[in-house]
Amino acid sequence: MRHDPEADRFRSQVRALLRIPEPAAPRPAPRHRARTETSTHDRRIYTALGARGWLAPHWPPAWGGQGSGWSHSAVVAEELALHGVSDTALVNTVYNFGECLRRIGTPGQQADHLPRIAAGELVAAVLFTEPGAGSDLATLTTTATRRDGGWVLSGTKTWSAQTDLAELALCAARTSGDNGRGPGITLFLVPLDTAGVRVEPLHTINPEPLHQVLLDQVELTDHAVIGAVGGAWPTISHLLSVERASLGYHGRARRWFGALLDRCRATGALADPAVTARLSTLDTDLAAAGELAWRAVYDLDETGATGVAAAVSKWRNTELGAEIVRYYFELDGMGAVLTGGLSEVAFRESAGLTLAAGTSEVMLTLAGTHLRDLLDEAG
Ligand SMILES: Cc1cc2nc3c(=O)[nH]c(=O)nc-3n(C[C@H](O)[C@H](O)[C@H](O)COP(=O)(O)OP(=O)(O)OC[C@H]3O[C@@H](n4cnc5c(N)ncnc54)[C@H](O)[C@@H]3O)c2cc1C
Repeated sequence: MRHDPEADRFRSQVRALLRIPEPAAPRPAPRHRARTETSTHDRRIYTALGARGWLAPHWPPAWGGQGSGWSHSAVVAEELALHGVSDTALVNTVYNFGECLRRIGTPGQQADHLPRIAAGELVAAVLFTEPGAGSDLATLTTTATRRDGGWVLSGTKTWSAQTDLAELALCAARTSGDNGRGPGITLFLVPLDTAGVRVEPLHTINPEPLHQVLLDQVELTDHAVIGAVGGAWPTISHLLSVERASLGYHGRARRWFGALLDRCRATGALADPAVTARLSTLDTDLAAAGELAWRAVYDLDETGATGVAAAVSKWRNTELGAEIVRYYFELDGMGAVLTGGLSEVAFRESAGLTLAAGTSEVMLTLAGTHLRDLLDEAG
């Protein structure tokens, strides 16, 4: 990681804010929510960050940011993860929905939503994955059909996070008649209280509930279209890369490693040379994974895009996080879940992180394809 005194100063300010222990304010439930289980979202922290322009610091001040680089945004994601604050709203709302509007939204869509996102007032969901289209997202089958100056959406979306808290969703649907791959896909802005939208919880081991979203003849106006009709694929690829470049993955792995060290200190396990050797290896791996994570962020700062660097970072940091959690339980047994120490949340969360925003196998395939291209170029 490059030494950046300005980013260090910013990190100290964010840390000071995240340490303020105040009770979370009660939050009104969105109208479409019809269940008891809820996602974790500390709106108080998000609005406190937003009030200072720190939730999307890389956006211009006119949209509620600070006009700084992606590295400031990365500091926020990492600190949220280090402090155990859910970053799902940051990832879905700022990195996906907000980044989409920032890149290809109309001035009206940007003015309507970006300042509210940056203020921490608006939570958005992402409706990309379908029961038959996850890793191979380009084969998605939700349709958007042209009708009376608008569009009608029909299909089923799945594994959507924080949909129970969200007001709006970013939805990918097929607008061309053919069943081709990337081309023919369009992005839509869907208010989740529109008639025909049904949000249902899925029960998984993931600590935050995931949802299935049924779209039954959902009528939208032309204002709901984001970007060019049929031309969404490059934006979807970019959004997935931005999500993979989040420092939240690395922040969690570091947090879990800190908990593992604390536990080893408390139980006297550090007296065992085999344990210290393993901890040293994990520590070194963590430092290397941090470098990978920052490289993806520097790509974003320097070129506005990131691809393979983000895929490699996401793969390495999530797999390492899962390895740290597994080692914790190897030392302590499953009783650790009940006796405090590394929380049950880490145990349940680490598995899902290796799948979300693209599985480890898919990340390695992207890296491998890139390597093959480089070798081909080198002749
Ligand atoms: C915690 C969590 C949060 C999520 N949040 C959202 C969200 O908010 N919005 C949203 O739209 N989606 C979300 N997802 C969905 C996520 O993006 C998908 O789960 C992911 O892309 C994988 O798709 P899939 O589940 O359909 O698995 P599949 O694509 O069916 O994959 C199944 C298995 O096959 C392997 N596989 C597939 N293709 C290949 C290949 N070419 N080579 C080698 N192996 C392969 C995979 O690695 C995996 O092990 C979330 C998922 C999780 C776990």
